Amino acid sequence: MSRVYNFSAGPAVLPEEVLKEAADEMLDYKGCGMSVMEMSHRSKTYDNIIKEAEADLRELMNIPDNYKVLFLQGGASQQFAAIPMNLMKNGVADYIVTGQWAKKAYQEACMYGKANKIATSEDKTFSYIPDCSDLPISEDADYVYICENNTIYGTKYKTLPNTKGKTLVADVSSCFLSEPVDVTKYGVIYGGVQKNIGPAGVVIVIIREDLITDDVLPGTPTMLKYKTHADADSLYNTPPAYGIYICGKVFKWLKKMGGLEVMKTRNEEKAKILYDFLDESKLFKGTVRKEDRSLMNVPFITGNDELDAKFVKESKAAGLESLKGHRSVGGMRASIYNAMPKEGVEKLAAFMKQFEAENL
Ligand SMILES: *Cc1c(COP(=O)(O)O)cnc(C)c1O
Repeated sequence: MSRVYNFSAGPAVLPEEVLKEAADEMLDYKGCGMSVMEMSHRSKTYDNIIKEAEADLRELMNIPDNYKVLFLQGGASQQFAAIPMNLMKNGVADYIVTGQWAKKAYQEACMYGKANKIATSEDKTFSYIPDCSDLPISEDADYVYICENNTIYGTKYKTLPNTKGKTLVADVSSCFLSEPVDVTKYGVIYGGVQKNIGPAGVVIVIIREDLITDDVLPGTPTMLKYKTHADADSLYNTPPAYGIYICGKVFKWLKKMGGLEVMKTRNEEKAKILYDFLDESKLFKGTVRKEDRSLMNVPFITGNDELDAKFVKESKAAGLESLKGHRSVGGMRASIYNAMPKEGVEKLAAFMKQFEAENL
């Protein structure tokens, strides 16, 4: 067996320990004589799995009691519709568009009500986070929407927008559990888990209880109503049961690692290795304004498409996988989520240094 250093933006690297444990339990989960994949989601054993996953997530993020944790399906993209359908009581919402995911969410919301694009960084290819300290928040906005870490462009909000008292909704798909957050600052925190937590197919929604109501837009499907899932503790229908089990293992791994403060420090150390190198490199350049740099996704370019392609090819041959940038921006992108070991990042930096020496 040989494992590569996997810099994929998602689905992405998972802790090796978790994968090994899952492999050990594949045929016989704790004496049940079956895999978690084969088990009724109504069984006592599965009930323990999902309850424990929720309890561990609550502990990791310090989630207050007046927030529900929902394990849902449909990916982050499904939430682009679910959010306006559930939250647009006045039919108005403000969107800050800092990348393709925020843009898609905004476009989806336009189908359900009056969505206002109150700020954007599209003028400079989403390479920065706009100043959000005094935005023209709509008087009757039901919520203000952000994508907190922009997976494709490698930007991250270092301070949350001033929503002037309006409910903040955040897509945290690519920074989920990468550092501590103050849950009370949000109405909804949600993310697909395939970036930093688990296998594709699960989306986690953390939502303040007062936002969960029957007062949803007409025509909202039962399955997209938060109340449906909140009332049934995420077991209204068959949940993505195996995926949730893996997420639960990752939560345990994070607790064992020391929690989110420790992850933050580790993630800062890893990102610093790459950013320090990019800042002094004569061949490679980071593409993001320094103060807005993500700890999770690090895009960079040489400025020469052929050289970029050569880098991607040679890095792959060296066991550094999936460094090609998103198709919309080109260049390279290293996604260095929680489960990427520091050695992987060091190896990448060393490879870049060597590539620079050979190609400058
Ligand atoms: C990957 C990603 C999405 C889309 O996730 P799906 O699960 O494929 O729908 C949305 N938002 C962000 C920030 C992402 O990184």
